[in-house]
Amino acid sequence: MIISMRPHATKEEIDHVRERIAEFGYKVHSIEGAERVVIGVVGVGDVTACLESLEATPGVESAMRISAPYKFVSREFKKEHSAIKLNGIEVGGDQFIVMAGPCSVENEKQIMDTAEGVAAAGAKVLRGGAFKPRTSPYDFQGMEGAGLKLLRKAKEATGLAIVTEIMSDRDVDLVAEYADCMQVGARNMQNFALLKSLGGCGRPVMLKRGMSSTIKELLMSAEYIVAHGNPNVILCERGIRTFETATRNTCDIAAIPVLAELTHLPVILDPSHATGKRSLVPAVSRAGVAIGADGRIVEVHPYPEKAVSDGAQSLTLAGFREMMAELKPYMRLWESTRAAAVAQTVA
Ligand code: PEP
Ligand code: MN
Repeated sequence: MIISMRPHATKEEIDHVRERIAEFGYKVHSIEGAERVVIGVVGVGDVTACLESLEATPGVESAMRISAPYKFVSREFKKEHSAIKLNGIEVGGDQFIVMAGPCSVENEKQIMDTAEGVAAAGAKVLRGGAFKPRTSPYDFQGMEGAGLKLLRKAKEATGLAIVTEIMSDRDVDLVAEYADCMQVGARNMQNFALLKSLGGCGRPVMLKRGMSSTIKELLMSAEYIVAHGNPNVILCERGIRTFETATRNTCDIAAIPVLAELTHLPVILDPSHATGKRSLVPAVSRAGVAIGADGRIVEVHPYPEKAVSDGAQSLTLAGFREMMAELKPYMRLWESTRAAAVAQTVA
């Protein structure tokens, strides 16, 4: 159940609602909004009686049942699509947002050249991992703090927002100092200690789907972040493991409209990890625009043959420019479709 308090409900009213919920045997989670409190209620009990009682309790505006196991992120909870603000732009708004950059931050020249190139071609967010989750402990693990500093330098030079990976709850404060958006990688999608700590990080989170995770599991992980106090979550489809070996992962393109039915959170596509192959990135990117993703995150490297990670799937700067130009007419169509959808919701 979700209980929305009236704007400016008093502390006494809120405490009274909490007591009533406990009397019915339920547990309380609460999100303090700017001007209204929304209380999430979980547990097992007499839902109908509890709802009826709460609806008649002073200070309560509405009480509703949410049947999905994920509550705050569900469409049942919020019908309108959420737009997540980062550094002056919105993911999930009326603009299709392109995030681009190398898999790993490697050195100053690499990140500055990439940032300038992708910004000139229309990207709004610079990606780049300073903490890298690698399958082998002998592979490059990331520049860590020094990489974060280079990302800041690139942001200062170009104005691009920064999305970078957070791997451990121990590093949340450090990464949040530099990142406009905290990326949770596929391998950490169910790192529950990390998800909980991101609830209080004060930055939007981009949550990537685990390579063997269902859509429901992805939404449950998003729910962890929101239930712990951070409503600003962007979901990312990055391909899943199947029997197919022609691509690095199998791009579950249908996950995007499935998610649009189930959640109000914005969803972006990662065509780079979804395919593992540079030549496939433009076509899959086009599919992402057509199917209604809110944006994409693409790996780009000024000299992919020298990349320390994911060179085979990284576009060159020229390749990225060409793809952005090729997708222009599709983007215009996306914008008019989005504007019509927003107008319909408002009407
Ligand atoms: C990445 O974005 O470089 C990355 C490691 O992605 P994923 O977590 O989707 O594998
Ligand atoms: Mn990568």
